[in-house]
Amino acid sequence: MKWIGGIAVLLASCGGGDATSAGSPEERGDPAVQSAAGSLSGDPAEIAWHVVDTDFSKGRLGHEQTVTFQDLIALHGHWCDGLVVGALGLGEALQQLYPNAPIDRTDLRILSRSSPCLTDAAILLTGGRAQFGTFQVSDTLTGLYIVQRISDGRAFRVKLNPGIKPAAIDSLTLLAIARTLSPCGLDSLQGIEEAFGQYLLTMDPKDAFTIIELSDFHWPDPTGPVYTKTDILNKNAPRCAH
Ligand SMILES: [Zn+2]
Repeated sequence: MKWIGGIAVLLASCGGGDATSAGSPEERGDPAVQSAAGSLSGDPAEIAWHVVDTDFSKGRLGHEQTVTFQDLIALHGHWCDGLVVGALGLGEALQQLYPNAPIDRTDLRILSRSSPCLTDAAILLTGGRAQFGTFQVSDTLTGLYIVQRISDGRAFRVKLNPGIKPAAIDSLTLLAIARTLSPCGLDSLQGIEEAFGQYLLTMDPKDAFTIIELSDFHWPDPTGPVYTKTDILNKNAPRCAH
């Protein structure tokens, strides 16, 4: 298993490796934990993220697990290029925030463009939720996302580099959204999106995305009611001494 910060690329050559084993990569002594990102193999089944959450409804922080790209597909409903874009791009920013530690899904909030694919990648990887004031959507956003660690305010913008995405996807998407794309045109769009997604999966994400740290990002005011996320209130409580 090859860990890249919060992201693990589960190499086929390491088949049989247990991606769900407990403990951080460091605790498991994985020597590749500090390795630089490289080109992906092209197989979405090999992409995963190491995350940490609280351990019950009123629990403490420390429940570590691996979230896979397959989990993201199951949440979203289908494989698509947008999921690849969102997951890989956001993964690059999360690697900046958690270079040697699990992604803390109790301490992140994210502003996302409105695409169904991007928003699903956002909520799964960050734990952000609209009802708790940690997830907002804006199509006036520059780039794909702004993700912020709540505790220290560090924030990163995620942008897909120009020229990476085929222009035909955007033009055909406009027709599809207007529901004027023919049945054969829909099939063509699906094929182009699949090819683009697979192409991205063979790239080094650092060549596809630009991650920019924002020095003074202010989280927008809530657009609706914000509820208390009761399962993180005790995340720093000490352990029972008895
Ligand atoms: Zn999709």
